[in-house]
Amino acid sequence: AYVITSPCKNEMASECVEVCPVDCIKEGEVMFYIDPDVCIDCGACQTVCPAEAIYIEDEVPVEESEYIQLNRKFFEKI
Ligand code: SF4
Repeated sequence: AYVITSPCKNEMASECVEVCPVDCIKEGEVMFYIDPDVCIDCGACQTVCPAEAIYIEDEVPVEESEYIQLNRKFFEKI
């Protein structure tokens, strides 16, 4: 799955939400999150993100790795 990382915080551009073909990007209080169980790995969101906050899971920078779980957790609590 793709993962949204810290540059999204306070940026919250919504281009990704608009392009996602499966509507799996949702808005939280400080950033957007991708539901990893629904994402089909199309990469569309990464292409349009102006903050360059989106990575496929395998390529998330080490310092951003906590966001892999933070994206998943967001969908567990709703
Ligand atoms: Fe949606 Fe595609 Fe991004 Fe996954 S990679 S969140 S399916 S736009």
